[in-house]
Amino acid sequence: MNQKTQAPRLLAAMSHPDDVEILIGGTLFHLKDLGWELGIVTMTRGDCGSTTHSKEEISRIRYQEAKAGADYLGAWYACVGLSDVEIFANAENLRRVVETLRAFDPDIVITHSPVDYMLDHEETSRLVRAATFAIAMPLYQTRQVPPTPIARTTPALYYADPVEGMDSMGQRMWPQFYVDITKQLDQKRRMLRCHESQRGWLRDHHGIDEYLDRMTIWAARYGGECGFAYAEGLRQHLGHGYKHERLLQTALSSYVHIREAKR
Ligand SMILES: [Zn+2]
Repeated sequence: MNQKTQAPRLLAAMSHPDDVEILIGGTLFHLKDLGWELGIVTMTRGDCGSTTHSKEEISRIRYQEAKAGADYLGAWYACVGLSDVEIFANAENLRRVVETLRAFDPDIVITHSPVDYMLDHEETSRLVRAATFAIAMPLYQTRQVPPTPIARTTPALYYADPVEGMDSMGQRMWPQFYVDITKQLDQKRRMLRCHESQRGWLRDHHGIDEYLDRMTIWAARYGGECGFAYAEGLRQHLGHGYKHERLLQTALSSYVHIREAKR
């Protein structure tokens, strides 16, 4: 763990502003209560997330909303600077993600599921997986001047569940474990409320406050699968070279429900 503070440093690295809030916001509030140092990274500023604003306007608005959400959580925030629907796992983008991850120096990283409803999320998952492998490699140099320091170790890597828990074929992707977020649901809703441009866009089109309600319905559905009122689902990357200690599961043990291996 980090030698400066001794508190674990967890970075949530996802595609767009509001993904972190929707998928793992409750889990992050748990970890904040434990004194963990939290960071949020988005690949983009959400530059295509509007039907009324220009790209420049919505990018500025959504960057500010992402920063406000991170501030509400008490987390560090950075944007990699890629564009919506153009997130691809290539060498140039990997360098930028590595620079951003090295700037935070995480012990644990959570990103998108390797399979999800849209390619931006899947490519982000691939980029972050590659970046967590590369950040501690002294010979993997980026172009930043001065260069960000090489990380001490490969962080533990976790995946949030895909949006609605489904892959792109509509098949359920089961989590390895659930986190009870019943007490954190109100904070999660307040953090998500920072993304007013997205909430308003859906509200104008559907006539109901679907943005917040939809997230709550998903959390209740997860909760119904494991005996909690509201829950979030996660999986740990257990490939060679990554930490296999159940760091998150242990830290949140009283709030975690481990799923059976087979269902
Ligand atoms: Zn997204």
